[in-house]
Amino acid sequence: MKVKINLQTNSAKMSLKSVKYSLNVLKSENLEIFSDLAKAKLKRLKMKFNDLESKFLSLDGDNAGHHVFLKHSTSNTFKIQTHVRKGLKNLLSENPETINLFCEDDDPLWNRELLYTALLNSQDLPSRKSKIEKKQLKVINFFGNLSAKEVVEIEAIVSGNTLSRQLTMTPPNDLTPTHYRQEIKKLASKRKWKFKEYNMSQLKRMGAGAFVAVGQGSDPQDAAIVHLTYQPKTFKKTITLVGKGICFDTGGHNLKPSKYMFSMHEDMNGSATALGILEAASLNKLPVKIDCWLAIAQNHIGPKAYKQNDVVKALNGKTIEIIHTDAEGRMVLADTLTLATRTKSDAVIDFATLTGCMAVAMGDRYSGIFSNKPELACLAVGSGQKSGERVCSFPFDEDYEEDIESDIADIKQCTLEGGPDHIHAARFLSQFLTDPKQPWLHVDLSSSNTKGGLGAAMSDVNGFGVRFGFSLIQDILQK
Ligand SMILES: [Zn+2]
Repeated sequence: MKVKINLQTNSAKMSLKSVKYSLNVLKSENLEIFSDLAKAKLKRLKMKFNDLESKFLSLDGDNAGHHVFLKHSTSNTFKIQTHVRKGLKNLLSENPETINLFCEDDDPLWNRELLYTALLNSQDLPSRKSKIEKKQLKVINFFGNLSAKEVVEIEAIVSGNTLSRQLTMTPPNDLTPTHYRQEIKKLASKRKWKFKEYNMSQLKRMGAGAFVAVGQGSDPQDAAIVHLTYQPKTFKKTITLVGKGICFDTGGHNLKPSKYMFSMHEDMNGSATALGILEAASLNKLPVKIDCWLAIAQNHIGPKAYKQNDVVKALNGKTIEIIHTDAEGRMVLADTLTLATRTKSDAVIDFATLTGCMAVAMGDRYSGIFSNKPELACLAVGSGQKSGERVCSFPFDEDYEEDIESDIADIKQCTLEGGPDHIHAARFLSQFLTDPKQPWLHVDLSSSNTKGGLGAAMSDVNGFGVRFGFSLIQDILQK
């Protein structure tokens, strides 16, 4: 977090004459800040002040400054973020060192989203260009109504989201399971999280056949399940996070065509989301104990790789008939969920870029959720609306399991007939919870990459899920 935030009280009125770069959220056009020059440009564009509820006005002022104006309107978090993001993109296009944010209204929602969106888009993301254009932004002067406590929370979530984006965007030759595990170990010691790993030989000995089926196809066999724990001195609840960390997904022997294999280094996004939430929760010192389990592997082709018709035995003793080697996510998650749920917690939340089916159902603006507790699904939908990272709840009825009954094993991994694979995957995963009744939420991340950005984030890889998960944990704490 290299950007310094200066909180200014509302009385310290900002004047456009004294600043070079500003973004202004106004309630009325009568404010002095909305100068004659701004009014004249609005008129020239044949726009009304109310049009600034959905568009922005940019202005090059007479002091050679650049200013952007928006009108305060909706109370929908996603819409506020989107509106602010578009205006900010214009303001940040000149790569300024200092920006000034002004919020006329005391609306806490607008104040929060204004700072969150600005800070989120001021972070450096991975680049391998020989001439790197670093973001120059060093200072945000915030003229509005935010407490120091709110700023700490915003900084924590931005830090978690940025961690998730940075890991997800790292090229796959730089983020192999070996490298990823090293990075997590470093982070764990920096944040004082407990760190434990289960490597391939340990997992084989333990009988984690579902995870091993995927991990055995890579050379070196550097797949592992990583377990991190954040435990503050006092805590009110316990949460279990689980993340899918496939560092590259070729599809295995059922090889993906090039168009679909491209960008498969992002198939570890679920684990990056879980890590991002852990980062945000511990930086903000949330009074909750979090156990975070990451299933880290690659899905490769080779003589040892698993294949169709194999039958493997999972850690909980259930046998699985392999149907399609590209459905590796549910395999590595199955054993990770079993391990993660041997200890009870108030909620188990897993994140995974799991099915293409969810992307077909949702597009890339929403992610889908499933839960064995309808009240947890409802809470999650609310957390999604509040955080601007929207989720939609999908059916989780038992009779869908008829589709994945196997003649030779306890369960089929998936089907080859198409159908609702996102629901089949959720039903499949539920078979590996140690206690099927414990509150569990499965998040199928269809919105982890959205061309041109989504909500507050301008980058295609948007860190979706970190703020959602953070908000959900806060909501669970308040119950
Ligand atoms: Zn796959």
